[in-house]
Amino acid sequence: MPKFFDLYDVKLLPVRISTAIFVMEDSHRLFLQAFMTHYVMYTKEVKEHFAMALKRFGGDYELGSFVITINENIKPLNLEIRKGISEKTGNHCYCLVNASENHGILKQSSDYTVNELEYFKKLVGEIAKSPEGSISSVDALNQVDKLENVKMSKKMAQDLIDRFQKDLWIISDVNEGHISLDTRCILELGHYLKDTYEDFIVNCEMCKQICLQGQSCGSCRAKLHHHCAARCFRNRDSPKCPASGCGAPWPYEQPERVEPSQQPTQNQGRKRRR
Ligand SMILES: [Zn+2]
Ligand SMILES: [Zn+2]
Repeated sequence: MPKFFDLYDVKLLPVRISTAIFVMEDSHRLFLQAFMTHYVMYTKEVKEHFAMALKRFGGDYELGSFVITINENIKPLNLEIRKGISEKTGNHCYCLVNASENHGILKQSSDYTVNELEYFKKLVGEIAKSPEGSISSVDALNQVDKLENVKMSKKMAQDLIDRFQKDLWIISDVNEGHISLDTRCILELGHYLKDTYEDFIVNCEMCKQICLQGQSCGSCRAKLHHHCAARCFRNRDSPKCPASGCGAPWPYEQPERVEPSQQPTQNQGRKRRR
C-alpha cells in the first residue's frame, strides 16, 4: 500500500500554491499597462490606477499584494515594479524597472545604441562618484572626450541628455546647470551602483535608500536626503548626526517646515557656516 505522499509529487505543491496566489486578472493587466506607458508614477497616481482597475474589473485586493502578484508574473520577463522615493521631491513613487542581472538599461535597451549606452554609463559613474550626487552640465558634455572607442560630438551628447531626461533617467536642471540621476535610474541601477561604486554610494541614515543628493555629515560618512533631514531635525535646535557612534553637530540649516510636495532642492538645507 503506497503512502499518501507517494501518490502525489510533493515538489509540485509549492507550484500549485504559488499559481493559486499569483494569478493575474484583467485588473492586474490594466494596472500594468499604465506602468508600461508611464514607467514612474507617484503614489497618488498609482492609487488612482489601482482604484480604476478594481472599479472596472472588480476584485477585493490590497495594493501591496496586488503589486506582488504582478511582479511574480512579470519576473520571467525580467521586469519588476519597485517602490522608491524621489530624491528631488521626497514623494513616494512606484517604478517599472528592468531587473535583469541588476544592470538594467546598461545591458539591455531597445531605445539606445551601444555607443549611446556607453555615454550614459559614463554619466552615471561620474554622478555616482560626485559628493553632491550631480555634475555640471559642462562636465557632462566633456565626458565625450573620455569615452574609449566611441566618437561622439558634444551636440550629439546634448541631444542624448535631452532624451535621457525625457525617458526619466536623468534630471537636467537648466537653472542650476547640473545633471543628476532620476528615480527610475536609481531604482533600476541600485545594485549596479552599490557594486560598482561601493566607496561612494551611501544609504540615507533615515530611509535606508541610496542617497546621492543629500546632506553629508562633516565627521563620518553618514548622509541624509534633504527631505529626510528636514523630517529628522524638525523642531530641533541643535541637530546632531544620527549615525550610531557619531553624534557630531549636523552642519546644515534646515528649512522651517517642509511639505512633501515642496521639498528642498540643492539650494535649500544650506550648509551652516562654521
Ligand atoms: Zn532618506
Ligand atoms: Zn556623522
